[in-house]
Amino acid sequence: MTIALQGMGVSRGVAIGNVHIIERDQLEIVEYQIEDSAVEAEVLRLLDAVSQGKQQLRAIRDHIPDSTSADIAAFIDTHLLMMDDIALTQEPIRLIKENGYNAEWALKLQRDALVAAFEEMDDAYLRTRRDDVDHVVDRIQRVLLKHAPLPHEVPDDKLDGFIVLADDLTPADTVLMQHQGIVAFITEYGGPTSHTAILARSLGIPAVISLHNALQYIEENDLIIIDGTSGVVLVDPDERNLACYRKQQQEDIHYYSGLSRLKEGPALTKDGVTIELMANIELPRDFDTVREVGANGVGLYRTEFLYMNRDNPPDEEEHYQTYLKVLEKLNGLPLTIRTLDLGADKQVDGGRKSGPVQSNPALGLRAIRLCLKEPTLFRPQLRAIFRASAHGTIRLMIPMLSNLQEMQQVLQMIDDIKAELDKDKADYDRDMPIGGMIEVPAAAICADIFAHHLDFLSIGTNDLIQYTIAIDRVNDEVNYLYDPLHPAVLRLINTVLQAGEKAGIPVAMCGEMAGETQFAPLLLGLGLRQFSAHPASLLELKKIIAETDTGQLNRFTEQVLAASSGVDIASLVRKQNLENY
Ligand code: PEP
Ligand code: MG
Repeated sequence: MTIALQGMGVSRGVAIGNVHIIERDQLEIVEYQIEDSAVEAEVLRLLDAVSQGKQQLRAIRDHIPDSTSADIAAFIDTHLLMMDDIALTQEPIRLIKENGYNAEWALKLQRDALVAAFEEMDDAYLRTRRDDVDHVVDRIQRVLLKHAPLPHEVPDDKLDGFIVLADDLTPADTVLMQHQGIVAFITEYGGPTSHTAILARSLGIPAVISLHNALQYIEENDLIIIDGTSGVVLVDPDERNLACYRKQQQEDIHYYSGLSRLKEGPALTKDGVTIELMANIELPRDFDTVREVGANGVGLYRTEFLYMNRDNPPDEEEHYQTYLKVLEKLNGLPLTIRTLDLGADKQVDGGRKSGPVQSNPALGLRAIRLCLKEPTLFRPQLRAIFRASAHGTIRLMIPMLSNLQEMQQVLQMIDDIKAELDKDKADYDRDMPIGGMIEVPAAAICADIFAHHLDFLSIGTNDLIQYTIAIDRVNDEVNYLYDPLHPAVLRLINTVLQAGEKAGIPVAMCGEMAGETQFAPLLLGLGLRQFSAHPASLLELKKIIAETDTGQLNRFTEQVLAASSGVDIASLVRKQNLENY
């Protein structure tokens, strides 16, 4: 009998295969006391285990196929760096020396402390980094306990075509899977922003996570189907299911290979309207993908990632050198640098001393508010952006504007910086466009006022939706209220687009909504002509744009703007999309 299970699909695609279960058996860590005379040897035992752990990771990295993206090696490097970090060993060494603990116990206590610190973080992404601590510590503990290597680390051709099922997986496991020909994976735990989920997407392996109790229902060698888009897993599927999903697989292959052909040439609607497709970028290494998908440039470079995992903020020179490297990679494509958006869900210690705890951080001192309050944090970045503008096409974008005074303060600061650079006879782009993110309802309602003073606007729907519907974007208890189609959200988007048109300045959208392909005809109907989204969505967007006739969208757009609920709008959107393609 077929059993259907529902998890969270985090990497699209369908896979059909037999299951190989990876049991990461729980290590039993016991506490015992070390004789004074054996303390030094115990410390060396710990350090030796760390060094063996590193050797294992290097061996895994050396097995990564050349065809695999550089990101994969970077994940392994992250674990190697963690093993090098004294935060991992300093405290256990102290515990061994002062309390006479055995190395395993001392390491376990430090693991617990680090995990507790990660779990307290507001940032969902950083919270998932506790998994990395677990994976790194687990590897060292296995060496200390002289545990056999994990079964999946033994190369085994027999796994070719298998689907792995595990309670949890490390990034290193995921890399090896591809090497061993494993076609998909399921985990019982994990979050959509975990390294493992990110890697699955980067490797193009279908993956379903958070399938609780999967190990109760699925046995070794069971035939299963996994759908990485919907999160559905079918155990022991019948012929009808198999035929249906095999067809889906063929259609996917056909669909995605067709998309890569769209890379060249501009994005044009059916009626010939040119649409700009820009990429959202976080880490410098993501810049390679911008050209791979034929993006028109970068519409959002989130610079706060420059501040993470460090003790001091980057200085002007570091900002400048980073932007120069990015410009070199973009080779002439425009780069929109968003100035610092620290605070709320993007807490980083490296940027600044943490201030008093804010009870409503999303409504507190974040983004431009923080930058204006701490010019020593902001000015070096602004100066670096201007200096870099002499070497490529840069646009500067200010996050979270909420009133005119803030914008005027920034513009004044920019004038002062320009005067300083003139005095130093430094080269820079005097006409560098200055734009603002519209992500606070106050700014959306008053978009005409901002449009009057700025060269472009960009709608940040992630925050605009959070603030309009009053739902904390990192609180999963109110996730169910998240609705990009809420009439209030769409009216605000419409207001901003119209303000841009009236003022004759471009308006982009760089929130996640821009990359959700099912919304593309709706956004085109409202008048959006610049989309900025994760590079992986851009070719699919391009396809949908090419199938959309903007001249045919007027009636649909009127109906959407007149509708009274997100549910009604969702059904109008579904109907329109069916007519479209
Ligand atoms: C947004 O809010 O939509 C946005 C693009 O910015 P971020 O997600 O970085 O807050
Ligand atoms: Mg935002």
